[in-house]
Amino acid sequence: MRLILLGPPGAGKGTQAARLAAKFTIPQLSTGDMLRAAVKAGSPVGMKAKAVMDSGGLVSDEIVVGIIADRIREADAKNGFILDGFPRTVAQARALDELLAAMRMQLDAIVELKVDEKALLGRIEKRAAETLAAGGAVRADDNPASFKVRLDAYRELTAPVSAYYAGRGTLKTVDGMLAIDAVSSAMDAQLKAEPAAFGAAK
Ligand code: ADP
Repeated sequence: MRLILLGPPGAGKGTQAARLAAKFTIPQLSTGDMLRAAVKAGSPVGMKAKAVMDSGGLVSDEIVVGIIADRIREADAKNGFILDGFPRTVAQARALDELLAAMRMQLDAIVELKVDEKALLGRIEKRAAETLAAGGAVRADDNPASFKVRLDAYRELTAPVSAYYAGRGTLKTVDGMLAIDAVSSAMDAQLKAEPAAFGAAK
C-alpha cells in the first residue's frame, strides 16, 4: 500500500497516518517529523530548515525531495509507505511521480482530509496545551503567527496538489471534522473502495 495523505495543518494527517502505518505494517513517512529530527540533530539540512520551519514557511523542494528520495529507497519502505506532509507543492508531486516511475512503483491511493479552516487554529492550540501539560516541548511553529503563515502556504502552494491528483481522477476525500475513530473508519471505507492501482502521470 502506497498512500498519500493530504490536508491543511492541523487536519489530523499525522494521527491517521500513524494508525494506517500500524494497520498495514508500513512506515509513516512524515517530512515534518524528519525535518524536526534533522533540526534536533543539528545536521546541515536541519540548520538550513530551522528558521523557515519556525516561521511557518516551506522548506525548499530540493531539500524535502532529497529526503524523501533517500527514505523511500530504504528497506522498510519496500512494501509500501504512507506519506504525511509530502508532497506539499505541485513541484514536489511531479518529483514524486518521477521517483516512483524510476523505481517502477505506483501509488495506491491519495486521500485528502477536509476540514473547516476555522477549526484548525483551535486544534493546534489544543495540541500545544496538551503537550505542555504532559511536560513536552511545544513545536516552535504551533503559535498563532506561524500558524497563519502555514495556512497561507497551504492555500497557495499545497491546495493545488489536491487539484493535481483530482485531475487524474485519483483523489479520495474524507471528512476530517469527525471524531478520530470515525475519520479512521471513513478512511478504511475509502481505501477498500479504491480500484486497481493507477500509474504515475506522464
Ligand atoms: P503541519 O502539517 O502541522 O503544518 P508538519 O509537521 O507536516 O506540520 O510540517 C512542519 C513544517 O515542516 C512545515 O511548516 C514546513 O516548514 C516543513 N515541511 C514539512 N514537510 C514539508 C514539505 N513537503 N515541503 C516543504 N516544507 C515542509
